Amino acid sequence: VLIDVKLLTLGKVLKTHWYYLYQVEDNTDIIMEGALIARDRVGVQDFVLLDSHTSEAAFLNNLRKRYQENLIYTYIGTLLVSVNPYKELDIYTVTQMQLYRGVNFFELPPHLYAIADNAYRVMCSEYNNHFILISGESGAGKTEASKKILQYYAVTCPTTEQLQVVRDRLLLSNPVLEAFGNAKTLRNDNSSRFGKYMDIQFDFKGAPVGGHILSYLIEKSRVVHQNHGERNFHIFYQLLEGGEKDLLCWLGLERNPQKYAYLVQGRCAKVFSINDKNDWKIVRKAFSIIDFTEKDLEVRKSKAHPSDGKLITQAVFVSLQLLGVHLSILQEALTHRKIEARSEEVLSPLNVDLAFYARDAVAKAIYGRTFTWLVNKINGSLANKDSTRKTVIGLLDIYGFEVLDTNSFEQFCINYCNEKLQQLLIEMTLKAEQEEYEMEGIEWEPIPYFNNKIICDLVEQKHKGIISILDEECLRPGEATDLSFLEKLEEKVGDHAHFVTRKLADQKTRKSIDWVDFRLLHYAGEVTYCAVGDFSLMVFQVLCNSKNGIVRDCFLLSELDSRRRPETVATQFKNSLMSLIEILMSKEPSYIRCIKPNENKEPGKFDDCLIRHQVKYLGLMEHLRVRRAGFAYRRKYEHFLRRYKSLCPATWPHWHGPAAEGVERLIKHIGYKPEEYKLGRTKIFIRFPKTLFATEDAFEI
Ligand code: ATP
Ligand code: MG
Repeated sequence: VLIDVKLLTLGKVLKTHWYYLYQVEDNTDIIMEGALIARDRVGVQDFVLLDSHTSEAAFLNNLRKRYQENLIYTYIGTLLVSVNPYKELDIYTVTQMQLYRGVNFFELPPHLYAIADNAYRVMCSEYNNHFILISGESGAGKTEASKKILQYYAVTCPTTEQLQVVRDRLLLSNPVLEAFGNAKTLRNDNSSRFGKYMDIQFDFKGAPVGGHILSYLIEKSRVVHQNHGERNFHIFYQLLEGGEKDLLCWLGLERNPQKYAYLVQGRCAKVFSINDKNDWKIVRKAFSIIDFTEKDLEVRKSKAHPSDGKLITQAVFVSLQLLGVHLSILQEALTHRKIEARSEEVLSPLNVDLAFYARDAVAKAIYGRTFTWLVNKINGSLANKDSTRKTVIGLLDIYGFEVLDTNSFEQFCINYCNEKLQQLLIEMTLKAEQEEYEMEGIEWEPIPYFNNKIICDLVEQKHKGIISILDEECLRPGEATDLSFLEKLEEKVGDHAHFVTRKLADQKTRKSIDWVDFRLLHYAGEVTYCAVGDFSLMVFQVLCNSKNGIVRDCFLLSELDSRRRPETVATQFKNSLMSLIEILMSKEPSYIRCIKPNENKEPGKFDDCLIRHQVKYLGLMEHLRVRRAGFAYRRKYEHFLRRYKSLCPATWPHWHGPAAEGVERLIKHIGYKPEEYKLGRTKIFIRFPKTLFATEDAFEI
């Protein structure tokens, strides 16, 4: 402690690589997490500073050391790696937030707040747009990270009384979307089952003044089916557990979830870590602040039509009442299918299984579209109506790569989305790196890396890609089957390096795979997809004519217009991803890569094997290599000089000439060799971490 105090008084130097010292105000130096924690124990806070070559073992070692000291954040340059602690850490307090506010990136230990603050500061000073991409597999901590960043802005950005409402709405949009879009899965008790991109809009003073949310592909299949140990979306259990008596009575619901087949297939309606009753209260409060009208919240106005004199169960009665549709029409739509025969439409009855399938399809469609309606509603309340120019920071919390026992179309979309984002990251980091060297006038050779564009093409290419093949098959109703789709795949992409043909798979596993399966070799691993289709509904028409305003808003008659060639869900998803990538490409990126330390949600447990796999497919080693192949460190001349000027008599205590010259004098004095650095136009580039280490160590002497 003495050494540190002496150092601080002598040079006002903050040692950040070895010790955890913080300067709160000019005269207050506080020492946190115990001073003098040796690097041996806590590792390095930036992987770029790892000694020797960058082996995977050294990488893991560093991550493990830090994790065991509760240091869950580590940088690779400006990318933040985060390992889920699975316990509350005291690093998200308002004091911590204030600490990171307006402070340069490397002057404090790695933190989400540093990433958030950096994006914010650059946005304010350069008046450009940013995004923060948070990725990682299910349970790795993406949603928690995005919420913490939002809180950071809510607390640290300037605000006025008027803007408080916007701030509250931004914050409260989370519990509403989580109630409807998250569920307990085996991997995460609060798993996001939709992708989310949220723009936070700031005015010229840097105050948050509005927002906009884009949601991606909610996992509708969960509405009708849950695997063992999983639940339906939280909102159902919240409503039953916490809903007011009158409301339940009017909805015709009983409190006991066991009464509802859709809610108990996973056999875990009650979850220890979840307080549904409390969550319901939060959601109700959020509804009122987000501008939902009483009319939106209750659907009393719609009238049921159970008038055919038929005896119907209460459940059917309530459904009709809520949906605002006619019994006989709904019944016909649920139990028949339309077939075109000689340009005439004929109704053919469905068997019981197919009728159940139709019922499930209706439930899924209603839930999916209501979710989109909900997002639109929230957007309406977050919209900023004044037309002055705003800058934005986008937060992307998107589902991670997923391999389940049975992988359906939903997993296919999720994994395709991850391929696209991986590609974006590769391109943008390499691009940014190259551009910086070019701008600074420094030569460099790009290093080889795996470009997953080849997999993206396999999925999305026009005519030849899997989605195009799927589209073609969907446009041949009556003729196309799951099998014909698979045959087409085999024919068109069978010899693609990332498509595992059935023949090859057979040889490998020595058993034949199911005829309804196909396999893809993703950048993150091999996945077998099940090609069971989910085809269109006749019920659509019925719902378009609903008396319930929300249902009508969700099922627009215009979509039925047969002159328009309908887009398949796959194509819609592909297009929405394309526009997301476009949105992101136009902004300055920051990346947070979240890692899940173990499968048991256990604090302190660092599962080497599991983590190694994530490090690999998140491309962290590649990222590090790119970072190191060029120059491990770069720093603006002014910053470099400010930090190290005490090491040279010519620059200490003040240097009055241009910063670049000061740096030249300084490094000459310390004895940098020519191969160790390059001087760019505005920055010094240091090739090896050890050079910077030595400079850091010079403080000790
Ligand atoms: P999914 O893809 O399933 O949505 P996710 O990556 O969004 O997963 P989170 O829901 O953010 O995962 O995190 C899972 C759980 O891990 C949280 O509910 C929380 O218990 C714990 N957790 C995550 N991050 C932190 C953190 N920084 N501090 C403490 N606990 C955390
Ligand atoms: Mg999540």
